[in-house]
Amino acid sequence: MRHDTLLVRGGRIIDPGAGIDVVGDLLVVDGRVAWIGEAGGAPGVTGGTVLPAEGMVVSPGFIDLHCHLREPGFESKETIASGTLAAARGGFTTVCCMPNTRPPLDSPATVELVKASAVSGGVVRVLPIGCVTVGQEGLELADMEALAGAGVVAFSDDGRPVAGSELMRRALERAARLGLPIMDHCEDTSMTAGGALNDGPVAARLGLRGMPAIAEEVMVARDIELARAAMARVHIAHVSTAGAVSLIREAKRSRVDITAEATPHHLTLTEERASGGDTNAKVNPPLRTRRDVEELGVALAEGVIDAIATDHAPHSSRDKSVGFAAAAFGISGLETALAVALILVHQGRLDLASLVARLTAGPAGVLGRESNPTAGQSVPKGIGSLRPGAVGDVTVFDPDLEWVVAPQDFASKGRNTPWAGRRLKGKVAATVVAGSVVYNDSRTIDARKGNQRS
Ligand SMILES: [Zn+2]
Repeated sequence: MRHDTLLVRGGRIIDPGAGIDVVGDLLVVDGRVAWIGEAGGAPGVTGGTVLPAEGMVVSPGFIDLHCHLREPGFESKETIASGTLAAARGGFTTVCCMPNTRPPLDSPATVELVKASAVSGGVVRVLPIGCVTVGQEGLELADMEALAGAGVVAFSDDGRPVAGSELMRRALERAARLGLPIMDHCEDTSMTAGGALNDGPVAARLGLRGMPAIAEEVMVARDIELARAAMARVHIAHVSTAGAVSLIREAKRSRVDITAEATPHHLTLTEERASGGDTNAKVNPPLRTRRDVEELGVALAEGVIDAIATDHAPHSSRDKSVGFAAAAFGISGLETALAVALILVHQGRLDLASLVARLTAGPAGVLGRESNPTAGQSVPKGIGSLRPGAVGDVTVFDPDLEWVVAPQDFASKGRNTPWAGRRLKGKVAATVVAGSVVYNDSRTIDARKGNQRS
């Protein structure tokens, strides 16, 4: 019997979840991790595909808990095909897509549509997130049981919060029974209406309405208390303030079942980035202050923030070129996520293994919990890990390679990035999904078909 083999050769293999940090070879057979060991020692490998990874980091495939693929309904901004190609270039092998499409993912039929499109046109694995409320209107709960049956891995009304506390309480209870998390976009919109950026000196200077930190924090505090009371699980999307960080840290200490994510941009940029009026720095939640950025970095290193999530939010240039107040919120982030997050490593605020953990084991832990019947049915075994038997998702990257961000070269249709023209350090060299090389940056690495001497 012939087997499909992929040998990732000679890299520094880092899998913090499995306690692996070793220079050597990684063998994937028939889509699953088969062996890790000394260079040249893989058992019985002749032929197959070889990915030379000398001098590179070999990590479990990155998992993005939060991206917007815009399909169905907004295909001029992004499609599942273009968004997953961007994901592959960014080193992501699994992306969870938010349900604020048109129609929104509030019924099994729409979820099936996304899954079918991902199978036919997707480059990496797509795990859909279902709506909490019908039409994301915040009035009545969606049929969460049916959505779980269709394979959603979480629930969210992202783009909006679940504003009603009673509705959120019931949603948390139902999600807990299904063993799935609710990912809440924490924003008290009565405090942010008409706001365009952080409530602070930059907003004042530009004459724009601000969005105060406390609008996020009151919702985080509410969600913590609701999760505590319901003994349910809540995940806080795109944490952006120091106050939210300390609430989450305290909640974890008191054993509330809570997880959290932060985006590369909130971990590195402040409101000052928008001071020139560049709408590519307009994002929700807004870029905050230096202190917020510092506290987020500390929380990421501690693990209080479990995952780095992109909140990839592609927009057309028209959506962004209508003046700051009217411009759409969002950053196209999949293709810069690794390099931007590596800024923290290069600054000495985060070690490389922890960075890998927040892109792999961290998000995997948010998705997969063993104790429930429904969860995990569409999350492959061993995702986020390189333990033998785990799904063969692998990301190979050079943490030190410098490159200049050129949005016109993005695979994403969204060119809206605050990093355009900036020199960043760290680049994905190859991305492997279930043993298949789906992206290979030939400038840094060569995939060679087997039986070639190397
Ligand atoms: Zn959001």
